[in-house]
Amino acid sequence: MELTFLGAAGEVTGSCTRVRHEGGCFLVDCGLFQGGRSAPLRNMRALDFALRDIDFVLLTHAHLDHSGLLPRLVALGYKGPIYATRATVDLLGVMLLDAAHIQEKEAEWANRHDRARHARRGWDVAPLYTVEQARLSLSRLRAIDYDEGLEPHKGVRCRFRDAGHILGSSFIEVDVAMGGATRRIVFSGDLGQPLRPVLRDPEVTERADILCIESTYGNRAHRQMAQTLDELTVALHQTLVHDGGNVIIPAFAVGRTQELLFVLADLVRSGRIDRLQVVVDSPMASAATALTVKHEDLWDAETRELYRWAQHNSDRFSVRFVQDVEESIALNGCRGGLVILSASGMCEAGRIKHHLRYNLDRRECSIVMVGFQAAGTLGRRLVDGARYVTLFGERIPVRARIHTIGGLSAHADQPALLAWLGHLHQPPRKTFVVHGEMAAATTFAAAIQSALGWPEPVIPEPGKVYALH
Ligand SMILES: [Zn+2]
Repeated sequence: MELTFLGAAGEVTGSCTRVRHEGGCFLVDCGLFQGGRSAPLRNMRALDFALRDIDFVLLTHAHLDHSGLLPRLVALGYKGPIYATRATVDLLGVMLLDAAHIQEKEAEWANRHDRARHARRGWDVAPLYTVEQARLSLSRLRAIDYDEGLEPHKGVRCRFRDAGHILGSSFIEVDVAMGGATRRIVFSGDLGQPLRPVLRDPEVTERADILCIESTYGNRAHRQMAQTLDELTVALHQTLVHDGGNVIIPAFAVGRTQELLFVLADLVRSGRIDRLQVVVDSPMASAATALTVKHEDLWDAETRELYRWAQHNSDRFSVRFVQDVEESIALNGCRGGLVILSASGMCEAGRIKHHLRYNLDRRECSIVMVGFQAAGTLGRRLVDGARYVTLFGERIPVRARIHTIGGLSAHADQPALLAWLGHLHQPPRKTFVVHGEMAAATTFAAAIQSALGWPEPVIPEPGKVYALH
């Protein structure tokens, strides 16, 4: 058997692992490369191998760095099934179409505005994939339930288990026949931090012969939730009650927005804040929230209870979902009293940029940063204390208070990852540390050896073929 890591090797995006075994070949995840100038080219070149050999695809979860190349895979000729959990299939119906729409818009922009380059190049930039191609890839999806046994191909059995990372997220146990015996490969996907809002804690696995474990935060421990809530309460009080401004929260549409709604509702229910008027201004976040409500069966018990409370206490905790552009623009005239959640999470695109434009230069407002801000993004400049930023070609002074609040990460930290691995009855024959920047992956590989006493894990090189026995 052979494993090849085509992405997320020494970095966090582009998850895609190819497994060759006696009976055939399959992929686990097929994600976009994100961040950095080289990402568009890497995405164009990513699936440069014999796609005809692939019998099926297993998908751990809907985040684009795991799923975002599926439309391209299908457009390039892949005709087999793509297996994912029911909630993942629902989310992809929104997310892949949105991703394709963005790809189309970006190509259009490049062709129209970058005339000098266009003239040099002499041809039109094509989108990575179109909305039509994304729609076609959705027809290849096969929804399955957690813990359901699946035999996607002769000699391969697998089981999707709850990873507690985002709605529908899974880690996958794959049993592959090998010379009369079977080998179990476990793909962790992205693992959630236990005891976090909305979703259930990750399930655990007791056996893995070969393990691929994520390491996004393999080199750190998250701040305690209690401290996070204290910081958030202070920021909300000061801005809404004391100063009479708005609180703007840039938030990823899928996962983070729903967790924030939970956290904010809980602050009101527990009496730490009297009342809150929340606006969710992101069509994608609204769609993802609706899907989260649809999949109530995947929530933890506290979330169900809190949801019932919120339904009967809309005078104290109200949430408005904004769809129309006109309604979104009207928000610019609201001077105070609102908590506005909007995307994108790193302030690079979408409606959040308008809310920043109208609130950043006002001392009575505050911006609460709750997610990872990659280098080079507007969000990162705000976190780093920029005094001016440029929005829509205009220089805007930063007068609002900027709060950076940790502790809401959707990824398990080092202690949680080690605890999860601790459930294995025996060390795997081979452990691959994936989905982490080099510093995180190497620190985590060392932690696995010292804390668990396992043999040295491998941080795979992208594209290299690893033979396994
Ligand atoms: Zn993820």
